[in-house]
This record gives sequence, structure tokens and C-alpha cells, in this order.
Amino acid sequence: MVKRFNWHIDREQEYPYDGPKPARQVAYVFDTNKCIECQTCTVACKTCWTSGKGQETIFWNNVETKPYGGYPHEWDSRLMQKCGPAEWQGKKLYSITIFEKNGEGKPPVGHLPNERDYSAPNLGEDDLSEMIDQGAHLGETHNGWMFYLARICNHCDHPACLAACPRKAIYKREEDGIVLVDQERCRGYQACVEACPYKKVFFNVINRASEKCIGCFPRVEQGNVALCVESCIGKIRLHGFLSTQEEPREDNPLDYIVKIRKLALPCYPQFGTGPNVFYIPPVHVPDPFLEQMFGPGVEEAKDMYRNLKNDRQLLGALMLFGASPRIITRYEVQGDEAVGWDVEGQEVVRVPFTEPTYYRKHFDEQYEAYRHNAV
Ligand code: SF4
Ligand code: SF4
Ligand code: SF4
Repeated sequence: MVKRFNWHIDREQEYPYDGPKPARQVAYVFDTNKCIECQTCTVACKTCWTSGKGQETIFWNNVETKPYGGYPHEWDSRLMQKCGPAEWQGKKLYSITIFEKNGEGKPPVGHLPNERDYSAPNLGEDDLSEMIDQGAHLGETHNGWMFYLARICNHCDHPACLAACPRKAIYKREEDGIVLVDQERCRGYQACVEACPYKKVFFNVINRASEKCIGCFPRVEQGNVALCVESCIGKIRLHGFLSTQEEPREDNPLDYIVKIRKLALPCYPQFGTGPNVFYIPPVHVPDPFLEQMFGPGVEEAKDMYRNLKNDRQLLGALMLFGASPRIITRYEVQGDEAVGWDVEGQEVVRVPFTEPTYYRKHFDEQYEAYRHNAV
């Protein structure tokens, strides 16, 4: 065991493996307020990476409905039952992480789902938090709520999958922090499946080996965003890098949203793995539920989101979501536009704060057609 500082929980924690910090860390921001659960991301990932034999129930990307949905079934509530509720003192975690629960030298606490847990990829879809009377939605606002949670591997700072593997078949790349399984070394013990608190390692029953999201590393190496990011219909995703070797940079949209402004929060930071998918919390969901899921800072994040129209620097960063297939490493707000540059320093996107409006002539002489403007 080594002691490592985990900035998500603002304290040192035990971790069984001491690897170097990556040069930069691949990271994602997902805006839960914009996801429509169309599953385009799921299909994009599946058709590209996991359409083979033995991969029928493997979804490196999935989108589930909270509070009741989850794939595999109850992946999070089962672990929370074992760990107990998270306790925070301000931004510091007071309760223990999955690495500390079992004691020194022991593997992280986890659970191994069974086959039935993988049988329904979208169980609980669109289920509300509580029953509402028929037709209640036509009257006043009702109290029932739900939201969609898109999930991929978090390419964690302190991956539980890596720490648990007895074959050392899992590694974290030094150049970008992407976490990969070496399929040649894997012997299918499934210690990683049991240990990953997010259940983002899957066991392939035909190959008899574990596999997981590869962070679309061939695309990242070319400076392009992941497939699940590029294909996102709702433009809820931003893919980039967090600075690890230097102070967070204001002109790096990921640093700015996540580390400087803290608008986007990690999912279940109390597990202690330091996940690198950050979520803008859904503004309509009650704080107690969100605080258990995203930790402290929910209230401030929701206020910030509601005030975006007066916060141009932050709004500019959010306008880059889904705006370019290139990874944006630097951005600026210039007048009425948010401008983004890729890793090679090329300007790749310029998004206006206000979309231009075009009025069409009612009668088009060329095509002899009448047209209407929808205003
Ligand atoms: S493609 Fe985007 S909007 Fe559609 S389900 Fe996936 S994350 Fe949500
Ligand atoms: S989310 Fe799970 S599979 Fe991905 S790096 Fe973290 S512990 Fe490993
Ligand atoms: S990053 Fe790539 S491999 Fe991972 S879930 Fe998204 S599309 Fe799939």
C-alpha cells in the first residue's frame, strides 16, 4: 500500500499500486441536463468496438435512468450498501474508500455481478422517483423526477481494476492516463470486474478474458474525440485533457469547467478511484440524492448552471460541447464567439453565442414556392 493524494476527496488515501502520474489525463464532461437517452453513443461504441462473439451483453458505453436504472443491475446501490453512506466534512471525505474498507494488503471492496444482472441493459428506463397521479403532468409541477446518466469507463486516477489484477494485465498509459487491459496477459480471473466500482470491466465468455472501454485511443492519438462523444446527438459531451503536471489552465476548457469552476463533478468520488468523467448535475433533482452521487458542491454547481447566461467565460466553454470532432485543448471567448484550438494549435471551431436568424422571402420566384418562417 502507498499513500496517495486524491484531489476528488481532498485527502490522502491508501492505494495498492504506485504508478507515475500521466503527462496529462484524458477526461470528459457530460451535461446530464441535455441527455435525451437516444442511445446513439451506445450504438456508436457497440458497432465499432464490441460487435463480436461473446460481446452481446458488453456495453462499454451505456445510458441508464436514475434513480432506479443501472447496468449491470444495481451496480451502485450494492456497493453503497457495503460501504455505507459517504460522509463529508466540507470538501474532504471523512468516511473510508473502497481501498481502505477491507484493511491493509486486502483487495478493494467490490462485488461480482451474476449473469442475470447483465440480462436487461436498460431496466428502470424512464421510471420516476415516485408515483404520480394519472394526468398530474398536465396540471401543476409534480415531485417525481428522473434523469439520464451516460456512463463509460472513468479512466480513473487510482483504478480499482488495475489494483486488483493479480496478473498485472491492466495498465494506465503514461501519455494520457487511458486505462487498458492487456488481453494477452489476462487469464480471466475477473478480479477487475469485481473491483471496479462502476462495473466498467466486462468478462467476455467466449475469449475468457476481461475487456473494457479503450478510450478510443487510436482516435485520441490522432487528436480526435472518442466516438461516443462525436456521435452524441444531444451534444452533452466534451472530451479533452486535464493538466496533471502544471496548474490548471484557464484556457483549457476541461481544466476550467472541472478544476477551476467546479461546475462538473465526479460520480461517486467517495469510492476513491478518482474518476475522470465529470457530470454537470441535473438541476431539477433534489440535492440529497445528487450529493450522494456527486459529492459536495452540487448546490454551487446547480446555481452556476442556472446563472450561465451571465457567465460568458463558462458559457463559452460549454458551447464547445459537440462542436468539433477534434479535441480542443485551448479556447477563448472573442467578442460574441467561443473559439477553440486543437492540440496542433489549429483553430477548429468558432461558435457564436447567438445563432444567426435568416428570414426567407414568402414567395420564392426561382422555385415558385411559398415558404414560411417559423419564429
Ligand atoms: S448520444 Fe448523447 S444525448 Fe444520446 S443518449 Fe448518448 S449521451 Fe445522451
Ligand atoms: S472505471 Fe472501473 S474499469 Fe475504468 S479505470 Fe476506473 S476502476 Fe478501472
Ligand atoms: S471512449 Fe470509445 S471505447 Fe470508450 S465508451 Fe466511448 S466510444 Fe466506446
